[in-house]
Amino acid sequence: MLDSLASGLSIKNGYLFWHERNLYDMAKKFKTPLIVYSKEDIINNYTNINNSISKYFTNYEIKYAIKANNNKYILRLIKNLGAGVDASSKNEIIDAINSGFKSSKISFSPNNVSPEELEFALNNNININFDSLNQYRLIKNKDIKSISFRIKTDYGKGEFKGITTSGKGSKFGEIPKNALEGYKEAKENGCKNFGMHIMAGSNVRDYKHFKKVTNDILNIAINFENKLNIKFDYIDIGGGFGIPYRPNENILDIDKSFEKIFNAFKSKYKNDFPELIIEPGRYLTGNAGIILGTVYDIKKHEINYVGTDIGMNVLIRPALYGAYHHIEIVNKIDKIHNFKCDVTGQICENTDRIGKNILLPEPSCNDIIAVFSSGSYVQTMASHYNGREIPEELLLLKTGERIIKKREIKRNYNKN
Ligand SMILES: *Cc1c(COP(=O)(O)O)cnc(C)c1O
Repeated sequence: MLDSLASGLSIKNGYLFWHERNLYDMAKKFKTPLIVYSKEDIINNYTNINNSISKYFTNYEIKYAIKANNNKYILRLIKNLGAGVDASSKNEIIDAINSGFKSSKISFSPNNVSPEELEFALNNNININFDSLNQYRLIKNKDIKSISFRIKTDYGKGEFKGITTSGKGSKFGEIPKNALEGYKEAKENGCKNFGMHIMAGSNVRDYKHFKKVTNDILNIAINFENKLNIKFDYIDIGGGFGIPYRPNENILDIDKSFEKIFNAFKSKYKNDFPELIIEPGRYLTGNAGIILGTVYDIKKHEINYVGTDIGMNVLIRPALYGAYHHIEIVNKIDKIHNFKCDVTGQICENTDRIGKNILLPEPSCNDIIAVFSSGSYVQTMASHYNGREIPEELLLLKTGERIIKKREIKRNYNKN
């Protein structure tokens, strides 16, 4: 039943194992809160999407969205698999450079940034997907090699409104009319290379979405090519490739997605295609991470509250968008799930819930919980609120495991 959430799960003597490792023992050994990743799963996710895309395209690039998970070890792993990266800030560019990505493998898709931040990217020969005409006008030296705008169309789709990143009500991207003006200005300034970018929404498990996004962006690109007498070198359709968060949710048909994306290119461009760029984040790391936490309190009040060390400081998505993350008690995995409860953390906010109205086996203090689908948008969104530590990160290797980030304390409380 949990197989759609993570691969390599098994149950032995009532304990949940992941890639042959007993998660209960791991939590007790490394302490909680702990985020555990599987190297094998990240490699498999990359291989999956790379195999699908290469069935249809020869000229393409996969640029991992750093904001999904910026662990240095994971960035290096993804680099060694052959991918590039998409950064959303100067500091993410620095992470990318420090992880060994060449500037040609890095793109920058920020919004509302200072001219200094834009110029930092340009000085490092990093391609920018400008969020607006105004952002392009902010840069002083217009002698740039390549220009790309993030386009906002009328259509956007995300799992939640908070992650729907195009269409009416989205703060991202430039409307086509203004983008056209931007390409025109860039051409007049001597720019000879052109790209177009769109990121229409996140965590979508319906392949039709990617077909629609590609058709929409290609229509705009061809229209601009004709109007300005230019050719686009690349079309970047962003990320958004979704994963299941609930048991029994469908898995995105990734092959079908690229078949449809390819058909859209083929019908608009015949044979002479621009390069296809995609920027998956969640798809590469999302299902490859599990958070482990400890139960420290149980209140049987008007409802049941299960108090743990995993709150909104570790995992903010439930409080931020009402996102669902599947939770299990790893040492009671095959017990009957008849205890209706909210799972809460240690933060002084009443929105501090990671599970609402869910069913668990009857918990006890010192039980270990596992929170699934936590390899993306967990560690990067974690905070020090209430003086809490950012969890330690552990990577499961083929044999053995390795701490890839130590528990992070904001300041050294011991020394004050
Ligand atoms: C967040 C983001 C991505 C990655 O999104 P996923 O849904 O994790 O694939 C890609 N590109 C841009 C510009 C983004 O902001």
